[in-house]
Amino acid sequence: MSDEHHTKPPADIALRVRALESLLAERGILETAALDELVDTYEHRIGPRNGAKVVARAWTDAQFKERLLTHSTEAIAELGFAGVQGEDMMVVENTLDVHNIVCCTLCSCYPWPTLGLPPVWYKAAPYRSRVVIDPRGVLAEFNASVPDTTEVRVWDSTAELRYIVLPMRPDGTEGWSEEQLAELVTRDSMIGTGFPRSPAELGG
Ligand code: FE
Repeated sequence: MSDEHHTKPPADIALRVRALESLLAERGILETAALDELVDTYEHRIGPRNGAKVVARAWTDAQFKERLLTHSTEAIAELGFAGVQGEDMMVVENTLDVHNIVCCTLCSCYPWPTLGLPPVWYKAAPYRSRVVIDPRGVLAEFNASVPDTTEVRVWDSTAELRYIVLPMRPDGTEGWSEEQLAELVTRDSMIGTGFPRSPAELGG
């Protein structure tokens, strides 16, 4: 299979970044701890919080959800999330019958505007290769098993199309505001390797 549809950074880019980082650290311009903090922020906080807002809106607004599932890119852009690595989006909905998982088998295609930077495991060969062969096994390792009666669908992202999972709204959240609901939405629940938090988990 050709990988022409995937975004491939120039071969020397990692080396260039490393060299730049070393130089900035040597000169005292940048603390590596600060850089780690910055990456962590994009990977865990800023990025996935955007996707969480999209999910929470879909949970509370049926018309938005309809647009989100039929015209994903445009619906996501309504909330202001668009741009590089998110030009063409498709939202796939989890139900009792279907559980969706997103991957990129060839590299690390990932929807930056909604989820931020991909986690290390998403880019790693074991996840990329195993998720298509044994998705239930992978889900079990993530402690995110689904019933045997639930069909598991794996979506392979490319530079042309990025996926995000719309997880099921947790029970016990009737009457919750969009902001409260967004707090339950985890990054992994939007990749399909996890579930949203329950109200109890949020409280604890
Ligand atoms: Fe890719």
